[in-house]
Amino acid sequence: MPKRRNRKKWWIAAGILWVLILLFRMMPLYKPAPSDPFSGKYWYNPYRQADQEGRWLRANFHAHSNAWGFFTNGRKNSVEDILSKYDSLGYDVIGVSDYQHITQTAATPYIPVYEHGFNILKTHQGSIGAKSVYHGDYILLQTRSQKQHVLNKLRERTQVLVLNHPDWMGGYSPRDIRFLTGYDCFEVLNDFWNSEDLWDVALSSGKPAMIVGSDDAHNVFKQTDLARDLTVIYSVSDSLNADDIYRALISGAAYGVEVTKRMSRAQVIEKRRTLDSLPLLRSCKIRNDSLIVTLTGDARDFSFTGQDGKLLKQVTDSVNGIESASYRLQPEDTYVRVKITLPDSSHIYLNPVMRTVEKDLKPPMPASQKRGLFSIFDK
Ligand SMILES: [Zn+2]
Repeated sequence: MPKRRNRKKWWIAAGILWVLILLFRMMPLYKPAPSDPFSGKYWYNPYRQADQEGRWLRANFHAHSNAWGFFTNGRKNSVEDILSKYDSLGYDVIGVSDYQHITQTAATPYIPVYEHGFNILKTHQGSIGAKSVYHGDYILLQTRSQKQHVLNKLRERTQVLVLNHPDWMGGYSPRDIRFLTGYDCFEVLNDFWNSEDLWDVALSSGKPAMIVGSDDAHNVFKQTDLARDLTVIYSVSDSLNADDIYRALISGAAYGVEVTKRMSRAQVIEKRRTLDSLPLLRSCKIRNDSLIVTLTGDARDFSFTGQDGKLLKQVTDSVNGIESASYRLQPEDTYVRVKITLPDSSHIYLNPVMRTVEKDLKPPMPASQKRGLFSIFDK
């Protein structure tokens, strides 16, 4: 009898150990990623190759259809409805991003996208160029390590990893943003929330987060769901292909546009006319330590922002309008980004120029590192 009892105890111990190992694998702890500001003697300019040879594409990567029964407010909102509305608005790139599901569409180029996350505080991520869906998440309050773990899992399965509406409901806190790493883009502009201040936290802690602007449309029959926040992407080739789009988003050859409140309520035809009339970025260059930004039309104001979100310079002319503005880069500047206010009060948000160690190389995201014992499992 004692022998059998011993064996039972052994099995219980082995079972507990197995559960512990599983938990240990599922919930690793990560060291905070380094949060040093950008440094180096060179400037990385994401627009250095954007000139008049190429063209600027209108894109939206965030719209929910009824193709997947998870959740959408749309009465119909089929994939076809989304494609046809955005086509009428003159969009070149249309992504249908359902929750936890890659929805196939007939759009060309076809960009496989989905939105990850089913936790209570809207800590969501956008997967652009998704290879497969990651079905895990932490549904209650998430620690920074858990957020990092989800990002790492998504990283393995996607081309472009976006923090969606990061500031909304505190989905990511400023502290999270200082110490999280491994993503590509920041959805600074979203119909529900503007995360501009939090973007400066990421940039100020040396994370080369590039901008994305999205509608987060749930019902394309509601005017206010359409063409409010968009991503404008630079393309050299006339034949659009998905890889070029991923490359442009990651390298930063794109910018965000936020239309006015009045325009957000307008009909599709008026929205289209307004979008067609907005000036585009003609060039963004660094010459003799000066950052020079030029549009194809007039603006009212150019604001230059740097480390810790500090306003470095503002150039305004609301009477005559201005097409171009410049800022003399200072030795202490780590990044400088430009926000432009157009005559109708809509905004253009450019990606930052950042200090970098290697010429023409975007400063890298720091690698995520597990704490002590957790590092025995590699991912
Ligand atoms: Zn979301």
